Amino acid sequence: MHAPYNVLEQLEPGIARVLAPNPSAFTFTGTQTYLVGDDEVAVIDPGPDLPEHLEALSQAIGGRRVAAIMCTHTHRDHSPAARPLAQATGAPIIGCAPLVLDDAGPRADAAFDRDYAPDQVLEDRDTVEVDGRRLTAVATPGHTSNHLCFADEASGALFTGDHVMGWSTTVVFPPDGDMAAYMASLDKLQQRDDRIYYPAHGPAVANPRQHVRGFIGHRKQRERQILRLLDERARTIPEIVAAAYPGLDPRLVIAAGGSVFAHLLDLEKRGLVGRDGEIWTRRAA
Ligand SMILES: [Zn+2]
Repeated sequence: MHAPYNVLEQLEPGIARVLAPNPSAFTFTGTQTYLVGDDEVAVIDPGPDLPEHLEALSQAIGGRRVAAIMCTHTHRDHSPAARPLAQATGAPIIGCAPLVLDDAGPRADAAFDRDYAPDQVLEDRDTVEVDGRRLTAVATPGHTSNHLCFADEASGALFTGDHVMGWSTTVVFPPDGDMAAYMASLDKLQQRDDRIYYPAHGPAVANPRQHVRGFIGHRKQRERQILRLLDERARTIPEIVAAAYPGLDPRLVIAAGGSVFAHLLDLEKRGLVGRDGEIWTRRAA
């Protein structure tokens, strides 16, 4: 696949992209940082703190004012460039909340950017004005508890971060990832009428409703599969992963285990499964 790193690509009037050079099994070709606006810009998902990416962003911004640096969530491939970019441009960091902690300790893992410190946190439906456009926060927890999408009302574009990606379904990894919240956030997008999605990873999605419907179907199918496997016999998560994901890329085994765990926690809350130590069992509804 053609991956034009560190160059500004104009996608449509007022929306451009710079691809960061951080390809991986989780980021696909890398993190796509979006610039919204013409005379002034908002920078969405500034990305990893890599010198060549920051240099490319600085080139892309040119002399324009940066109205806001906006992060969809605080995974390390999304938000670490926010601080150096804020220092370079003087722009405020406006967007998702910082890391959520709970009583039992951090909900986050090593994939989180612990240094993220926003100047302003957006709640659902809060807006930011940039270059005469209005960007509206759409709270979409699930992939992470603090995930936001940003809607550009003028163009009908929705910047979906990692909630809905163009190349793969997202990773839902407990304790911060939450399957029930993720499904509700997919339903929330189904209620909207966006023209196009610009995800942080993978190609733009030109058929949003159909794409999201596919993801909802995929998760429901996975849930049914897990229940069927537990109908046969009690199993551990690695046993479920081995049965449910034949031929899985070894680099994704841990992520698949996280997703299965997220499904199991949701099913447990709904009274459909139970566990004894590492062993998960089917419960009658
Ligand atoms: Zn993420």
